[in-house]
Amino acid sequence: MNKNDIIELVIDDMSVEGAGIGHLDGMAFFVKDAVTGDKVRCVVTKVKKTYGYAAIREIMEPSKDRVEPRCAVSKRCGGCTLQAMSYEAELRFKQNIVRNNLKKIGGITDVEIQPVIGMNNPWNYRNKAQFPVGIDKEGKNIYGFFAARTHDIIPASDCHLGIAENREIMELIIGWMNSHGVSAYDEADGTGLIRHVLIRKGFATGQIMVCLICNLDEENTREEFEALSVKDRLSGLEKKIAGISELVKTIGKVTGMTSISISPNSIRENTIMGEYTLTIWGKDVIVDRIGDISYEISPLAFYQVNPVQTKVLYETALEYAGLTGDEVVWDLYCGIGTISLFLAQKAKKVYGVEIIPDAITNARRNAEINNITNAEFFVGAAEDIVDTLPSSDVIVVDPPRKGLDERCIDTIVRVSPKRIVYVSCDSATLARDLRQFVDAGYTIEKVQPVDQFSKTCHVETVCLLSNRKADSHIKLSLDMDEYYDIIEKEQAENK
Ligand code: SAH
Repeated sequence: MNKNDIIELVIDDMSVEGAGIGHLDGMAFFVKDAVTGDKVRCVVTKVKKTYGYAAIREIMEPSKDRVEPRCAVSKRCGGCTLQAMSYEAELRFKQNIVRNNLKKIGGITDVEIQPVIGMNNPWNYRNKAQFPVGIDKEGKNIYGFFAARTHDIIPASDCHLGIAENREIMELIIGWMNSHGVSAYDEADGTGLIRHVLIRKGFATGQIMVCLICNLDEENTREEFEALSVKDRLSGLEKKIAGISELVKTIGKVTGMTSISISPNSIRENTIMGEYTLTIWGKDVIVDRIGDISYEISPLAFYQVNPVQTKVLYETALEYAGLTGDEVVWDLYCGIGTISLFLAQKAKKVYGVEIIPDAITNARRNAEINNITNAEFFVGAAEDIVDTLPSSDVIVVDPPRKGLDERCIDTIVRVSPKRIVYVSCDSATLARDLRQFVDAGYTIEKVQPVDQFSKTCHVETVCLLSNRKADSHIKLSLDMDEYYDIIEKEQAENK
């Protein structure tokens, strides 16, 4: 098999990144934009020892799960990889990802993976967008999304995952850049001003925030503007961003606009947001509501992107926590206290831990505005702080994609809560971490994926672990032989 060979494949599987997989002559070929069940003619683009890559030339027989993508740029944009697949097939595919990861990475086979809880309308669900701003080949200012694996901006003015206001706001910003000669950031040489625009909307309240991420020196900007009133910041900023007052006036008129800020970021890395934000119009935060709880959200804080499914996710986590009102609960990686405050309604006491100080400011304030007095929040890395917390009956964790820190797992096992509720946005690291909990004596009771990110390959999973032997304090650092020795000794002593 060589590069540029034309081959015919029947797609019989999907990769975790959403590419179709077909087999030929003992080799697996990854085919972008193919769907399980497709029969395709492809050109081989790369050959390795046991696998290769191929690009579709012709769909000879479409899969019964194939549908017409809704978006014109779905193949080029790095956002949606599953638009050519029916939603039912997408949900089955995601259930399979979780099942395979638990099996292959965690060696976990004896637990049923529940069908993924999907959405009634799996479109326009995102409450947040971060648009890169740049220039096209003709030198025109553009916005859109990065293409898969590159930083080429694919113009995408009507993304079907986002809110209608995105387009309105972005076109006002691009128009303002054009008429005031405000430059777009150029990653190649680190010049230009406007890097990204963050837009976030509270679905329950209609409140909108816009944050312009600008290529400005963080230290100078902070020194110059932090102590000033919002009005004075704006007039001072005119020297750095000509016409900013006019922009603010214009986008301030968009229905629901509540907060406009800038975030200086001159660091030539991929991190989108700068270290801090400066409000230049309206409030520092927007408010949103999930269930009965209201949340204040600042631009830097993490907030789940799919509010409809977030409610389902948190209700599942709350159900799994099995609270009666007597429990002390930790909510590790708590963000702005979203899950903590859900839990606080049914627990004796909740301790939330989060690394971003702004998020904890939001969390404390959120407890206050909801009159919740049994939740306390701490800033810091979960792995550093959990040791200082009082003992816990239930521990909820909701880490970023990289999963739990080894030390954090160690402490959780030492604290030995009756139940652990693991909320995960990456089932690969979930599987790795579950293995450790299982080895330490925990039983996986339930695994429930919830579709938070329709049309993309990401899957959110809630998992309940129980400690059927709540008094076993087994140190994780032991290897398996030592572990079995201890179990045997314990059993002998109990006889
Ligand atoms: N449970 C929250 C947030 C989940 S996202 C919600 O549903 O809204 C994960 C959070 O973990 C982010 O807010 C991130 O800032 C935080 N985080 C990342 N690393 C951390 C660490 N080592 N210790 C504590 N929090 C951390």
